Amino acid sequence: MTKSNNGEGSLHEIFGSSVFSDAIMKEHLPKPTYQALKKTIDEGLDLDPAVADVVAIAMMGWAIEKGATHFTHWFQPMTGITAEKHDAFISPTPEGKVILEFSGKELIKGEPDASSFPSGGMRATFEARGYTAWDCTSPAFVKDGSLCIPTAFCSYTGEALDKKTPLLRSMEALSKQALRVLKLFDNKSASKVITTVGPEQEYFLIDKRMYDLRKDLIFTGRTLFGAKPPKGQEMGDHYFGSLKERISAFMKELDQELWKLGVAAKTKHNEVAPAQHELAPIFTTANIATDHNQLTMEMMKKIALRHGLVCLLHEKPFAGVNGSGKHVNWSMATDDGQNLLEPGYTPHENAQFLVYLCAVIKGVDEYADLLRASAATAGNDHRLGTHEAPPAIVSVYLGKQLTDILEQIAGGGTTNSSQDGLLKIGVTTLPDLPKDSTDRNRTSPFAFTGNKFEFRMVGSSASTATASFVLNTIVADMLKQIADRLEQAKDFQDEVQKLLQEIVKNHKKIIFNGNSDSDAWVQETKKRGLPNITSTVAAIRTMISDKNIALFEEHHILTRHEIESRCEINFENYMKAINIEALTMLEMAKRQILPAVIEYTTMLADSINTIKTTGIKADISVQEELLTEVSTLTATFRNDTVALEKTLAQAADICGDTFGRACFYRDQVFVKMGKLRETGDKLETMVGEVYWPLPTYGDLLFNV
Ligand code: ADP
Ligand code: MG
Repeated sequence: MTKSNNGEGSLHEIFGSSVFSDAIMKEHLPKPTYQALKKTIDEGLDLDPAVADVVAIAMMGWAIEKGATHFTHWFQPMTGITAEKHDAFISPTPEGKVILEFSGKELIKGEPDASSFPSGGMRATFEARGYTAWDCTSPAFVKDGSLCIPTAFCSYTGEALDKKTPLLRSMEALSKQALRVLKLFDNKSASKVITTVGPEQEYFLIDKRMYDLRKDLIFTGRTLFGAKPPKGQEMGDHYFGSLKERISAFMKELDQELWKLGVAAKTKHNEVAPAQHELAPIFTTANIATDHNQLTMEMMKKIALRHGLVCLLHEKPFAGVNGSGKHVNWSMATDDGQNLLEPGYTPHENAQFLVYLCAVIKGVDEYADLLRASAATAGNDHRLGTHEAPPAIVSVYLGKQLTDILEQIAGGGTTNSSQDGLLKIGVTTLPDLPKDSTDRNRTSPFAFTGNKFEFRMVGSSASTATASFVLNTIVADMLKQIADRLEQAKDFQDEVQKLLQEIVKNHKKIIFNGNSDSDAWVQETKKRGLPNITSTVAAIRTMISDKNIALFEEHHILTRHEIESRCEINFENYMKAINIEALTMLEMAKRQILPAVIEYTTMLADSINTIKTTGIKADISVQEELLTEVSTLTATFRNDTVALEKTLAQAADICGDTFGRACFYRDQVFVKMGKLRETGDKLETMVGEVYWPLPTYGDLLFNV
């Protein structure tokens, strides 16, 4: 094998080289220690402190070989990004030297000063202690000279303060219920059901020099002003287009860095919008996928800078151009490798497949509001509920063939479909379902794509943890109901048939195979009674309905207190985001755009005066017209600025609950921002290019 960093031959060596993987553990740990640790990882048993000490020493030794000097508990607080605090492996000796130290205690538990992380009132600042606990189901890795230990982050009383804790709890809940159902289908070999996730990550790359000239991008991640360029995405010439050299160099380096970290980055391509790209890894367990996606986003940002680029992960960096999502591909698999959403070859396998499939359909219908909430952020409001796929209304795409099959089941014994004969559960084999991507629906928010579901509402900057834990919990609940019923059944086959019939009958309203991004569908959903939750503020509020709290408490995912705190945090995050955007707009309006426009109008006035003083009878009507038009619009712009400023001051003064305040930001501040932008963008199209103080959309989108 070669040592080169870019040849095929070295891929083996590179992949996972910075990860304390299972293979490395086996190599570095005494056999009994390895076995004890494996038991903890696989069965969730507590780790013996003596074992932890041995693991810690081995981990440190390995990390130091990889150039690490520090260790950090790596966690995912409610800020949406990761947090780390680094401690060196050193401990002083009386002789004024140091020895290298890392104990099992330090591996298992950390106590970061947690007072500045969002807690939604869960942890008063005087009781600022939180702790991080090793999540040994996600492997440790070396990054930037530090051994990073994936951890969960809780308050001292054990309440979840992060994104990972509910995810881990939900994986257990789903496993427990899914196994009950598997047992009923006589599966004796599986001891665990794992939720698998593969997130497709969309992002934009723009030139750093342009980025540096835009305060809006710097402070908020999206453009707050910007007129449409003459060319957008209408030609479709960017999608899957050949990669430009600079982009290609970036992607190559990104792949290399991700591979080192054990992230199985697989697919990369240009997306629909100009300057937009996508990366998809090979799926893995939901918690590792979450960690890997965080690393992917971090690396994208870091590596872009090395290429003079900036990576934008905001859901809507540019108005009028497609936004960025993160398609969360999700399924369930047994620990012996069976994908539970894979249609089978025998009637028995298919009955099982249909039960799991229908559990998901029923869950999505009953908890559509929660799923919508799991994708709700200020940034994502620009994608969901506007004229862009996917819409804010949750529906399930199954494709024609699978829908036909379900209709037959619902028909229960009558031959009411194009297929011959009737479909008898446990007797009939399903026809082969199409698995190729040719007739994929692209607008559905929740699509069955052959052997997994693809949840497309999630925003590009979001952690996959939230959508995953909500989905896991919903499906766990449905499987619990199903297991409760089937375990009591006298005739199992018969009961399965009845159960599926009921589910299809009661929940087929959530199935929609057409274009979800159409007005006709919005009208249709009203008839079907599907919720259309258009804003983040409204979506967040649904989290704390009695029904949803009961769901989370039933499966020990979150307590009422934990959910209410999360809700508070989400409202606060929403308001903070809008507030920063509004302040940035005001700064740009007052200190950049207005001065530039005045300079332009001064030039026009000067031109008129100069011509007049020469005494020559030249036509100055153009200058006069332009001057009048621009001046009128400038006055409007100034008024819009003042209006936004006043509204923002009012927002700061509102007392009352966070929901009411968040509504004010949505209905007043945000609306005024839209008005100011509209006027600003009109001005941009009228003012001379050399006067305009900001790089245009054309400069930003077509410059790399
Ligand atoms: P497309 O763009 O056509 O949707 P991609 O190949 O870009 O397809 O992405 C599909 C994603 O789904 C990949 O990340 C893949 O690993 C993931 N995936 C495939 N099978 C499963 C599964 N059983 N569970 C979870 N994710 C899966
Ligand atoms: Mg996809």
